[in-house]
Amino acid sequence: MVVCPQCPDEDDPLEEDTMNFYSSPTLLKLASQRLLREEALAISALKDLPRDLFPVIFEEAFTGRYTKILRALIPLWPFPYLSKGTLIENSNLETLKAVLEGQDILIAQKIHSSRCKLRVLNLRNTHHALWRIYEGSYEHEGLPEFMTQKYPVVNSPDCRENKELTVTVDLKLDEDGMDESATYLLQWAQQRKDSIHLCCRTLRIHGLPKAVCREIFKVVHTDCIKDLDLSFLNPEEIDFLTPYLRHMNNLLTLMIKSIRGASYMDDFSEEVDEENISRLISPLPTFHYLQNLYVHDVIFLEIQLKECLRCLRKPLKTLSITGCFLLHSDLDYLPYCLNTSELKYLNLTATCLDHLVIDGLGFLLENVKDTLESLELEFCMMEESHFSAILPALSQCSHLTKVNFYNNELSLPFLKQLLHHTAQLSQLTYEVYPAPLECYDDSGVILSHRLEKFCPELLDIIRAKRQPTRVIFATNQCFNCSGSYVYDLETQHCLYQKVLLPD
Ligand SMILES: [Zn+2]
Ligand SMILES: [Zn+2]
Repeated sequence: MVVCPQCPDEDDPLEEDTMNFYSSPTLLKLASQRLLREEALAISALKDLPRDLFPVIFEEAFTGRYTKILRALIPLWPFPYLSKGTLIENSNLETLKAVLEGQDILIAQKIHSSRCKLRVLNLRNTHHALWRIYEGSYEHEGLPEFMTQKYPVVNSPDCRENKELTVTVDLKLDEDGMDESATYLLQWAQQRKDSIHLCCRTLRIHGLPKAVCREIFKVVHTDCIKDLDLSFLNPEEIDFLTPYLRHMNNLLTLMIKSIRGASYMDDFSEEVDEENISRLISPLPTFHYLQNLYVHDVIFLEIQLKECLRCLRKPLKTLSITGCFLLHSDLDYLPYCLNTSELKYLNLTATCLDHLVIDGLGFLLENVKDTLESLELEFCMMEESHFSAILPALSQCSHLTKVNFYNNELSLPFLKQLLHHTAQLSQLTYEVYPAPLECYDDSGVILSHRLEKFCPELLDIIRAKRQPTRVIFATNQCFNCSGSYVYDLETQHCLYQKVLLPD
């Protein structure tokens, strides 16, 4: 158990989030705000409005919830694409209804206004759009990229649907079903199936009311789904989903998280019967295009990992297995699995590797030495013998830009040895190392002054070979307050932090 000298002062106020997305209003914004104050005038003026004003008016009308203007604006939209960006977070059912009613007007018009070019309405949460929409820089950069044609339409090459209008959306289902906006949207799209293609790119299922799930798949084409996130389900629910999964032919990212389930646990808590478990879980279907596989906190993984990887048809870019219990045979299998031969991102955080002979991981690193860019082995309970086994392969991974070895048990002399290897990885821009064992006393109390003393010398090992960009040495977290001591290349000091290791 690790305890820090800061305890019991646990109430350090967290730093205020100083991110401020709002910049000063631009002239266009001021003009549109003024226009919106006179609703009737604004609506009548829309048809004569310069094209470039539409995105600004849309943003203002959306955030200000001017529903009548929104409704009138959609049938005149002069671009092929309209994205709400992250505005959806500020939206309510009324604004969504107004936008969809605008669509209805558009669909009902047999001859579209020559001005309207709308083909794709994007209701997804596209975070990158946030910056652009709040930077207020329309004047300098012309129209925001996400309003124009080139970016989004090509984003859906697998979408074979060719309806008048495509509405792209991310959906989330949990135990209570879906939120009211999503429910409304689904019904709306269902009733207009002939003219609207509801294209769901990201589907998150965090609890499974089966009736709602069936409704979703009546409207949503499984082919459209690129990212699927299955969390907090039990194996029986995965079984229920399997027929749908079988048709997700274009899936790129699969995230499986916290698959266990209380009743299932009760049945098997006494004696885990492997045969019964594998019978409970039907094998995952073949995913032909999957590139990113994330598995977190999945209790049956020890039986399923090989099956999981066998059902893929293309080499993965990302393999993230975190908070799981790996078997020796799993680790041994990884380097021989063709689907792991081109990994860019490997994350085994919080998988106990201490009980394993780790040669398999070394072989895997050797296989991916020409592709691997990020390696995360946090909280793996690895000791020096484990690191020794992977060091020769690690030194060859010359494309690595990020390594994270936080919270493993290394002595000062061994940490130096590790750094002599990573110092030769010239592309590294982000590296996290555990504070050496010498930074704790026999009862586990953190000796922060020692970390402060060791770090300059440790950094010099890297500096002898290359210029480091972001390097962090951190102690384990204190058992009481979860704080830790962090020595950062930037601060050059050992500082107490409650929230560890921002990426
Ligand atoms: Zn503490
Ligand atoms: Zn689609």
